[in-house]
Amino acid sequence: MTRVNSRLRPFGATIFAEMTRLALAHNAVNLGQGAPDFDGPEFVKEAAIRAIRDGRGQYARMTGLPELTSAIAERFHKTTAITIAADEQTVVTCGCTEAIVDAMLALLEPGDEVILFEPFYDSYPAAVAMAGGVAKIVTLHAPHFRIEAASLEAAITTKTKVMLVNTPHNPSGHMLDAEERRTIARVANAHDLVVLSDEVYEELFYAQPHQSLAMEDGLVERTVVLSSLGKSFSFTGWKVGWAIGPAPIISAIRAAHQFTTFCAPTPLQVAAAAALRAPETYFTAFRAEYKRRRDLLAEGLRASGLTPIVPEGSYFILADHSKYAFEDDFAFCRFLVEKVGIAAIPPGAFYKNKQHARTLARFAFCKRDETLHAANERLRSLPELAAQRT
Ligand code: GLN
Repeated sequence: MTRVNSRLRPFGATIFAEMTRLALAHNAVNLGQGAPDFDGPEFVKEAAIRAIRDGRGQYARMTGLPELTSAIAERFHKTTAITIAADEQTVVTCGCTEAIVDAMLALLEPGDEVILFEPFYDSYPAAVAMAGGVAKIVTLHAPHFRIEAASLEAAITTKTKVMLVNTPHNPSGHMLDAEERRTIARVANAHDLVVLSDEVYEELFYAQPHQSLAMEDGLVERTVVLSSLGKSFSFTGWKVGWAIGPAPIISAIRAAHQFTTFCAPTPLQVAAAAALRAPETYFTAFRAEYKRRRDLLAEGLRASGLTPIVPEGSYFILADHSKYAFEDDFAFCRFLVEKVGIAAIPPGAFYKNKQHARTLARFAFCKRDETLHAANERLRSLPELAAQRT
């Protein structure tokens, strides 16, 4: 008998824990969970070690260590040309995931509606549910995953309070274009919505540079930009994230944050401040590496008979497997991990309407070259193994 309450019961166990378990059990090359298999930069590690040695082991300021919040404001100004007051317009959390939960807990009354676009990162609907909100799902369609004005407008009601957007997008790698950004601004302004913009993959773009939603006309007054150290500096396990936005919304998020975690780990906040002050060459080299990894994996996927949807951003590739006629994405990913020895994520985990994910699988390319080469090597056996199955 489960003791999980009715709000959380529909969500079961997260797919990332499940696929990681299967990857280990089958000794598979793990392209499932989006976690780098390489370490973040030495200068950031050194800053954390120094902070620990210097005795910075007590709680940080609840809203974020001053040296980090000023580094966040500086970096934000560099990438968006928007000036913010670090003390009032930022809050540091235990990863962006906490910031999303805090925002839902702080902004929603029971029954308030939140617009989510599917495929969505799996914590989004759970965060809405934990706060007693109701998720209204707008489906984005492969292969372009663009936000269409008509389907967005159709999902808005008098109870809509928040819209949660993610660009670059996990799992598709799509980045919002100018027209989509305008649509979001128009709808959010017309219905007085708070826009939560999850931009954790902001440094991972391969064609057009990422443009924060806060830069869109009319959005700065109602948009909270969420980001973190994890993706941009390859420290997903450090769980340092932040929210940037208008003072009244940040103040609301802080009202929840003070009672969820109170503060993120102090020495890691010190290191995050050092990270954000990295020279621009760090980010350029980082992106160039990732572009190379993306192209390497896309090539292996193509060679195996899959059809990759080459991402404009993020570190994920969705690939279409309809050629092999599996029952659905879960069946394909099970076969892939058990027989081919590669772990991927069935994107059904990112959908309420799971039929849209049936022919897709998500592969993470935040991996060392040797890992990607090993994956490509195993992928070569896919056509034959798929043909042999009964
Ligand atoms: N964001 C990562 C992904 O999409 C997973 C994070 C997690 O496991 N919670 O793969």
